[in-house]
Amino acid sequence: MTTDLKRRTIPLARPLIGEAEAEASRRPIMSGWLTQGPEVAAFEQEFAAYTGAKHATAVSNCTTALHLALLAVGVGADDEVITVSHSYVATANVVRYCNATPVFVDIEAATSNMDPATIAAAITPRTKAILCVHQMGMPCDLAAITAIAKAHGLPLIEDAACASGSEICWDGQWEKVGKAHGDITCFSFHPRKVITTGDGGMLTTNNPDYDKQFRLLRQHGMSVSDRVRHSANQVIFEEHAVIGYNYRMTDVQAAIGREQLKRLPEIVATRRRLGDRYRQLLAAIPGLTMPHEPEWARTNWQSFWVRLPDALDQREVMQGMLDRGVATRRGIMCAHREVPYQREGGYDLPESERAQDRNIILPLYPQMTDEEQDYVVEMLSEVCASSDAHTSNIV
Ligand SMILES: *Cc1c(COP(=O)(O)O)cnc(C)c1O
Repeated sequence: MTTDLKRRTIPLARPLIGEAEAEASRRPIMSGWLTQGPEVAAFEQEFAAYTGAKHATAVSNCTTALHLALLAVGVGADDEVITVSHSYVATANVVRYCNATPVFVDIEAATSNMDPATIAAAITPRTKAILCVHQMGMPCDLAAITAIAKAHGLPLIEDAACASGSEICWDGQWEKVGKAHGDITCFSFHPRKVITTGDGGMLTTNNPDYDKQFRLLRQHGMSVSDRVRHSANQVIFEEHAVIGYNYRMTDVQAAIGREQLKRLPEIVATRRRLGDRYRQLLAAIPGLTMPHEPEWARTNWQSFWVRLPDALDQREVMQGMLDRGVATRRGIMCAHREVPYQREGGYDLPESERAQDRNIILPLYPQMTDEEQDYVVEMLSEVCASSDAHTSNIV
């Protein structure tokens, strides 16, 4: 059995997409209305209904969603935004887009999420917002973080790029991430996330003023959408009272997204089954630490990571897996180690750095068979036991 599998490559991730999406993308193409139009409007309504938020606005990707979220809450030059360094670099970059400064706090090793205990000490008179991340789909401690945000009168933006379909227990009820627990939540539909439109993003909020801002700014600050102008029987002259952006989602993407959203419950259920299975199977490998899912959280396992014991070299383990046909990735990057964020005196973010250096991400995708998953675990067990991967053997 394993010899057969040894010849094939097990990818890290694979989107679940096919005929339904291909068929749906014909609608806008054949209608002749290709960019932000009726499909985008329908996708927004369906996404709002799914998350339980009052408003949803579709944009070109999650980075542009985060940019608009920061602008809507008034982040500007010389402001500070409290966030994590341990995230995809876009989380920090959007703060810089606003000419503001990201103030990095550390994470909790068990969840890879923002440590709420570190936030209060990072607040200064210049703090304008908190930007938390549901890293790899694992909900962060929103109850603690919203309490701190409220106590200091700070808006809370959630980077839920990876967290479509993740849930949090809120006042005794399971609710979707994005049901406006913070002030604004931003999602990504990049192929590496849980559902995809190629590229794409969504903002959810319960605040109608924020929603109005998103709609204005995503379309060049134009007072009337081209859809309204197109269907009007009176001549309309639009105005551009503010400097906006072109952050539109196209109707082709939205048509695909509507089909992906239909699949989301099944995708999350499958990923959770595989996540549980990983946790059972990997428990047999000595020294590995697995991600902790708090009792108030239901992750979608956008990524499943393990922490390697100190005696093992991360690169050697990953190479050993690659040699056996299994793709892995190292832990989530730390923005503060990248050139634009380096500074005199460095940063004190030990858990963030350990997570990048000691964790590896294992393959997980909805089409993964139990046999493939067994193979990944078997190979990891073999690599971890081999002397090649031990740091003492590396000069
Ligand atoms: C992927 C990701 C982003 C960026 O999303 P795009 O849609 O590619 O712009 C932002 N934040 C986090 C945490 C991500 O994982």
